[in-house]
Amino acid sequence: MIDFALDEPLVDLRDRVRTFVREVAIPAEARDLPGHGLDEALRRELQASAKGAGLFVPQLSEALGGLGLDMRGTAVVLEESGYSLLGPQAMHCAAPDEGNMHLLDKVADAGQRARYLEPLAAGDIRSCFAMTEPAPGAGSDPSMLETSAERVDGGWSISGRKWFITGAEGAAFTICMARTSGELAGGRGATMFLVDADNPGMRIERIVDAADRSFPGGHAEVVFEDCRVAEDAVLGEVDQGFGYAQVRLAPARLTHCMRWLGIARRAHDVALDRAAGRELFGQRLADLGMVQRLIAESETDIATSRLLVWHAAWVLDQGAPGRGETSLAKAHVAEAVYRVVDRSIQICGALGVSGDAPLSRYLNEVRPFRIYDGPTEVHQWALARRAVRRRQREAESGA
Ligand SMILES: Cc1cc2nc3c(=O)[nH]c(=O)nc-3n(C[C@H](O)[C@H](O)[C@H](O)COP(=O)(O)OP(=O)(O)OC[C@H]3O[C@@H](n4cnc5c(N)ncnc54)[C@H](O)[C@@H]3O)c2cc1C
Repeated sequence: MIDFALDEPLVDLRDRVRTFVREVAIPAEARDLPGHGLDEALRRELQASAKGAGLFVPQLSEALGGLGLDMRGTAVVLEESGYSLLGPQAMHCAAPDEGNMHLLDKVADAGQRARYLEPLAAGDIRSCFAMTEPAPGAGSDPSMLETSAERVDGGWSISGRKWFITGAEGAAFTICMARTSGELAGGRGATMFLVDADNPGMRIERIVDAADRSFPGGHAEVVFEDCRVAEDAVLGEVDQGFGYAQVRLAPARLTHCMRWLGIARRAHDVALDRAAGRELFGQRLADLGMVQRLIAESETDIATSRLLVWHAAWVLDQGAPGRGETSLAKAHVAEAVYRVVDRSIQICGALGVSGDAPLSRYLNEVRPFRIYDGPTEVHQWALARRAVRRRQREAESGA
């Protein structure tokens, strides 16, 4: 049974996060200066405040310093944190660290937990995840992976080029996906490697000039050239990297939805305030039918997004992989969040695209979400194929 009622401790926690975002994260926004990525000193200051408020890494287990929330609780808390772009950074529940901590928690051995996961969970270091490559390498189609790792004396040698690696600049380590078998078949043939930032075989070639700028370190192009790592750098088992990518991706795409839903709500609130305060043609903007339609459509987008996120979270909490549900949620929420921000701009008129309102910044931040963690079309493609297969099975069984 799905129960949407939030219990009292969760309501209390949500309200504490709301207060934290209002009193700490939002006032700090004025200090989030232009440039790629959040200033490291500000990030550390905000994280210290979140620790003081007992709101640090809420998504992690208590053993790792978190609050031990399930995915449904995480959905409520991360949406609230996302009401400010600085909320998830402060609470250390932002991408890519949040997904990497989840992956390491599931797959890392004892030595890797102590060396990478524990300092990451404590906020002492940052991390990144290196999968995507410039064309003709892996993007939407992971089977085009070109980066490869060869066995050498005492370990592995990795060679290849990655790009759009969020947070690589300043990260203490990279989780790098490389081809380890000649053929990538049946989800096998690729391996994840933990590469330390000071490895001489890995270098950051440039920070890509991307539309968004809220991720510390921005998005880097990273080159691996005979990058030597020891055997203990293998995360999990050799050739099982794609399986582990799924362990990371399904929850990670959902947590993105949770956080961006927060910014959609913020944008919508800006538009609602403007619609209630601005007079045009002898009435409030909020009383004009076509503006009401925009408002109603955004209300619908926010409500449907939350329901899909909560449903997918519930599925994950049942122990199911939730690939279909998280994929459906991602395809819907990425588009819905973008529509909400765009409508909010429209309602605000010129103010909406000006630097006097935060909306055009939000539009730049949410636009790439329609591309990363699977472009919308890839999820829709998977949804359509699943639907046709389901119908064929029903037809064959006479349903
Ligand atoms: C801001 C940002 C941060 C990122 N951070 C990271 C990171 O930290 N680590 C990392 O490894 N990667 C990261 N990425 C990369 C991201 O995962 C890829 O951009 C994504 O997988 C798409 O790959 P691609 O850009 O090569 O597009 P392509 O694979 O070239 O696809 C281009 C377009 O083709 C269309 N398309 C693709 N497949 C289909 C299909 N089956 N049916 C119909 N249309 C289709 C879609 O419209 C898609 O947008 C990031 C990207 C962005 C924008």
